[in-house]
Amino acid sequence: MGFSGFRVIAEGLMGQRGWKPMWRDPSPKSEYDIVIIGGGGHGLSTAYYLAKEHGLKNIAVLEKGYLGGGNVGRNTTIVRANYFLPGNSEFYSHSLKLWEGLSQDLNYNVMLSQRGQITLFHSDGQRDAGVRRGNMIAGQGNKAELWDRERVRRELPYLDYDNTRFPIYGALFCPESGTARHDAVAWGYARGADQRGVDLIQNCEVTGIDIQDGKVTGVQTSRGAIRAKKVGIVVAGRSGQVAAMAGMRLPIESHILQAFVTEGLKPVIDHVVSFGMGHFYISQSDKGGLVFGGDLDFHSSYAARGNLPMQEHVMEAAMTLMPMIGKAKLLRSWGGIMDMTPDGSPIIDKTDTEGLFIDCGWCYGGFKAVPGSGFSFAHLIATGNHHAPAARFRLDRFRTGRGIMDEEGTGSQHNLH
Ligand SMILES: Cc1cc2nc3c(=O)[nH]c(=O)nc-3n(C[C@H](O)[C@H](O)[C@H](O)COP(=O)(O)OP(=O)(O)OC[C@H]3O[C@@H](n4cnc5c(N)ncnc54)[C@H](O)[C@@H]3O)c2cc1C
Repeated sequence: MGFSGFRVIAEGLMGQRGWKPMWRDPSPKSEYDIVIIGGGGHGLSTAYYLAKEHGLKNIAVLEKGYLGGGNVGRNTTIVRANYFLPGNSEFYSHSLKLWEGLSQDLNYNVMLSQRGQITLFHSDGQRDAGVRRGNMIAGQGNKAELWDRERVRRELPYLDYDNTRFPIYGALFCPESGTARHDAVAWGYARGADQRGVDLIQNCEVTGIDIQDGKVTGVQTSRGAIRAKKVGIVVAGRSGQVAAMAGMRLPIESHILQAFVTEGLKPVIDHVVSFGMGHFYISQSDKGGLVFGGDLDFHSSYAARGNLPMQEHVMEAAMTLMPMIGKAKLLRSWGGIMDMTPDGSPIIDKTDTEGLFIDCGWCYGGFKAVPGSGFSFAHLIATGNHHAPAARFRLDRFRTGRGIMDEEGTGSQHNLH
């Protein structure tokens, strides 16, 4: 079923009775060529690109809950390519290019809104760092502008510019950054993969990974054993647990990240705005809610919900930057489980087990990576070779110390990235 303006109007006139389910609900077969564990954004995009780019069909995505019920449906939807370090820089630039054509590619409106991101700075040192980052972004082929304080004030008149501790000096503006509709991304990839013959199997938890003579042979699931020639682990916050089923100990800690949304308001925030002195960022959804978030909860957990101390901390940052937000009523808050690596950069790699691949460590920034990660992971699984933009996301960098990509400069403190 294709989507078009004509179709929407026709269905409106016919009582919306013509729509069909967007994907099948198949029972698991006993064997597949490729099994993808995890039906989040990265798992679904991997399956989609395996089918689309590599012509592979005998693929299953195994999801323990429902498609898109994990972090892909819980994030604050910011899409950007403003990374500084080689490795991250070219990868996120590639991912952004895929985003820009995604609605057409999937024939599904992912509501990409390139409204621009304003990252504030509050000291001369931060301005210098912003200039370097801006040059790096321009060098990778993306856009960046340096704004002075008065330019920022014109765009964001409601901020507190003269806060004694955190006066606003200016900002780095990335016009190509923005937001997308998170559920639509998951559903669009799911529909596209299903149309290409991929079996999307929900309520199917992987409980074991079968290995014989150093080679993966399949998985054990809550719906029975499934044989497979290749298996990809793409389970975000559960990466450590699932990798342990194959005898691996990952350099990953799982932490909670919370997000918040206010009641719907008239349009007030036109961009994504990031506070440079606290981990606080905000945008406004199409429904009018102010969507914002901040730091991790600072302790490891598998609970997909947050705690009050961090909520207070995020509200303090919000009030410091834009006091007017105190008038808004908070509607909801929620949490997701982040797979934090020691250097804050991801992993897309083979494992020591033949046929077993892993894609994880996206920390709190994996939504923007959904297209790029799926594309690169599919390339690795299908060809056995690393896809160039993701070639530096090696697992062994944590063993050898070579190739560490510490974007934030916070060392191996998972909770500070
Ligand atoms: C509050 C919050 C805000 C965020 N904001 C942003 C943002 O603005 N921009 C950005 O780029 N990123 C953001 N992120 C991060 C981003 O959401 C994640 O990095 C990304 O979604 C993770 O990849 P995924 O979509 O594949 O994960 P998930 O959607 O979590 O997918 C993993 C799936 O694996 C399944 N699974 C786990 N174990 C098993 C098993 N044993 N068997 C079968 N299935 C299993 C899970 O049920 C889940 O559906 C945010 C995250 C949160 C929580």
